[in-house]
Amino acid sequence: MIPPGETIGILGGGQLGRMIAMAAAQLGYRTHIFAPEQDSIAAEVSAAFTCAGFDDRDAIARFAADCAVITYEFENVPVTPLAALKGVPLHPHPKALEIAQDRLAEKNFVRDLGGSPAPFAPVDSSADLTEAIARIGAPGILKTRRDGYDGKGQWRIGSPDDAATLTLPGQPLVYEGFINFFAEFSVLLCRGDDGDIRFWDTPENVHQGGILSLSSVPASDRIAALVPEARTLATKVAETLGYVGVLTLEFFATDDGPVFNEVAPRVHNSGHWTIEGALTSQFENHVRAICGLPMGDTALAARAVKMDNLIGDDAHDWPKILSDPANHLHLYGKAAARPGRKMGHVTRLTLD
Ligand code: AMP
Repeated sequence: MIPPGETIGILGGGQLGRMIAMAAAQLGYRTHIFAPEQDSIAAEVSAAFTCAGFDDRDAIARFAADCAVITYEFENVPVTPLAALKGVPLHPHPKALEIAQDRLAEKNFVRDLGGSPAPFAPVDSSADLTEAIARIGAPGILKTRRDGYDGKGQWRIGSPDDAATLTLPGQPLVYEGFINFFAEFSVLLCRGDDGDIRFWDTPENVHQGGILSLSSVPASDRIAALVPEARTLATKVAETLGYVGVLTLEFFATDDGPVFNEVAPRVHNSGHWTIEGALTSQFENHVRAICGLPMGDTALAARAVKMDNLIGDDAHDWPKILSDPANHLHLYGKAAARPGRKMGHVTRLTLD
């Protein structure tokens, strides 16, 4: 067990790291952020900051020397340089990073565990794409295998003709069939190092332009019917990886069952509602799990909860948001409100 007073290292310096650091502080831990960007919003609320590239092994070794345990808030941290952590525990296991960093590895891994991703095929050339469309059909979505997030690195393919006019980006890709879902949802769990698993209520998620816009619980009855199967898969993923911490799986809800979309080996935007809406938040339970403390109750703290993301200029509405005393406003302290940038979120609880 890593007791309060010790230092938790966090790889990545964005809003997820910031909210982990705030939960860690509540439990009496120090946090040390490691991030390549100078203006880290996680470092602003942490005791220490190492600003260096993720491939800088000397900096990683110095950072590790200050930490009792290390976690990450960003799944594109390169895995090989993490050897420089030299025995300081890293949770979740880096195998989870390897899988989540590559959409092809992720889909194969989940399919092997009995999950159902959209039909998919690797694409490394125009000929592969033609073949993939012939086998899977169109419409579909072509995605970069690595480094895509919030809908970036994706191309909608409406028909085989679209593929003929597309210039491939020169990196490994995966083509997947378009799923006609009636809703999207995620499974959020936290696993302790003793194997104890706690689930939060499943949020129904609405995306706009590939970016999460709204999460609400409880999800509709149609989604609730799919949750047991989705939780079984998430449990298998967590147990197979010997996972410790918060794990998120995203799904498309269809009448044929839950279709797996992707795994995030970390706290997740669709779990931000848990800060006020659950008895223990995803951030607090993540800290508890990686430090070997008992986990807190994940039950709902209200009859219903809604979380709206504040994207770009939405954040400028903060005076109006605060004029309603029922709103819980979270601003991440980012300097510039660029379009598509997650600037904060607002949570509302329905108590009666
Ligand atoms: P991703 O970055 O893969 O999570 O994709 C972002 C969003 O694009 C998803 O949340 C969906 O709304 C949509 N999307 C991605 N893949 C598919 C698919 N195969 N079929 C339908 N919609 C998709």
